Amino acid sequence: MMKTILAKVDLSQPEAMEIIRRAAKILQEGGLVAFPTETVYGLGGNGLDGAACEKIYLAKGRPSDNPLILHISELEELKPIVGEISPAAQRLMDAFWPGPLTMVFPKSDIVPEKATGGLDTVAVRFPNHPVARAIIREAGLPIAAPSANSSGKPSPTRASHVAFDLDGRIDMIVDGGAAEWGLESTIVDVSGEVPMILRPGAVTKEMMEEVVGRVEIDPAILRKPEADLKPKAPGMKYTHYSPKAEVILVKGEKEAVAAKINALAAEDMAQGRKTGVMATEETKSLYHADIILSLGSRMKPEEIGANLFKYLRKFDFLGAERVYSEVFSEEGEGMAIMNRLHKAAGYRIIDIEEEANGKGACD
Ligand code: AMP
Ligand code: MG
Repeated sequence: MMKTILAKVDLSQPEAMEIIRRAAKILQEGGLVAFPTETVYGLGGNGLDGAACEKIYLAKGRPSDNPLILHISELEELKPIVGEISPAAQRLMDAFWPGPLTMVFPKSDIVPEKATGGLDTVAVRFPNHPVARAIIREAGLPIAAPSANSSGKPSPTRASHVAFDLDGRIDMIVDGGAAEWGLESTIVDVSGEVPMILRPGAVTKEMMEEVVGRVEIDPAILRKPEADLKPKAPGMKYTHYSPKAEVILVKGEKEAVAAKINALAAEDMAQGRKTGVMATEETKSLYHADIILSLGSRMKPEEIGANLFKYLRKFDFLGAERVYSEVFSEEGEGMAIMNRLHKAAGYRIIDIEEEANGKGACD
């Protein structure tokens, strides 16, 4: 076990630069530093150093075929790490960078295969978080930074989540407060003719279509990955973001969902199983279970997105063995929320209407 430095940073304070410099030095020397971004906390390492990338995989327990995203702090840092930049990529960059959008480009020779899991493409993001940008700028390197969780766990949205998963396994955690968006970046592949979304996030299909016209979605991310339909982002095939508790989604009209969940929760509790419900402000009073957590208002998807991983972790912390969750609209940013929820649930969903029509549930 190594000693992990934990440092709070507030960029309005003069001593902040000292922490930023310390973090940057660790990165330059091949070490690992977790830092906040506007999506989730990232686990940074020198993206041009295969050995540093290998350390990231080790610390997270991440499968080696799951490539890393390289993070930059200025636009001019892009050119040296990618091949061709298509006109569509340029327009997306102009519109959404810095921000929660990752783009997949053909890679250049200086990017080690360890960073890309052997692929000839590289994923790049220019984050908008001032702490992330300050650390990357000071390091003067593209920083490989996957989410700073143990592989398989929900992504961390707070420094305390990172410490829980990785304390003793990385050199430093820079605490810059809660990650604002709370779900990982949108990934769009711009290495082909038509941009294709490989992972839904804060930058939606509709937003990108306004800028570049047609945008496709990898069909594999809309349903359970199967042998015939593999997601194009290698990491999307893993059932992750999951807490220890078994998560089951229940879909239908508000009162019917509450009645169904209450009936199932009553059975679970009668069998001595600690049972939770992931509800919303509008519905939380309808439930009876051991633990009821509200993700926020159904009218504010950004609140639901920001709280999702935090509450999945909280159910674990409180010892829930089974968690029932409401489902949300897949419109706009809702697609990212439902993508992560389906994964957390291992694609288990009870559709009340389908059940009533005799189509069976829990497929
Ligand atoms: P994380 O940084 O933990 O959010 O994970 C990075 C995600 O980006 C994973 O789902 C990877 O599969 C995906 N990714 C990274 N590089 C590439 C690439 N070159 N092509 C496709 N997907 C990628
Ligand atoms: Mg991740």
